[in-house]
Amino acid sequence: MPRTDPDSTRDCPMWCAGHEDDQEPMPPHWHRNEGVIVSVVERRRATLGAGPAPLLAEDFVVALEQDAQATYLYIGPLEDGRRFFAVTLDSAQRLHSAIAAALKAPK
Ligand SMILES: [Zn+2]
Repeated sequence: MPRTDPDSTRDCPMWCAGHEDDQEPMPPHWHRNEGVIVSVVERRRATLGAGPAPLLAEDFVVALEQDAQATYLYIGPLEDGRRFFAVTLDSAQRLHSAIAAALKAPK
């Protein structure tokens, strides 16, 4: 739930999901929205060839995060916080355009 305390709302973006973590005392140093879970099938090998690449089904989190530097789009496996992708919103927009163009390519 977004924070409703008038003294803290100026510190949290509207999309912040709150701070049930160890960021106390306030103000928080970073913010995160609730995000969405997306089921994906991932190829874990960087290169193709030498036989079929193993494919793994996983749940990924797509979320917004913010710290003192920037707001980021975060994408990473729900069960593995070591692997993630976090880019600024401008970068995410460029990737979004590139991904949309790639998906329009003939199949
Ligand atoms: Zn917050």
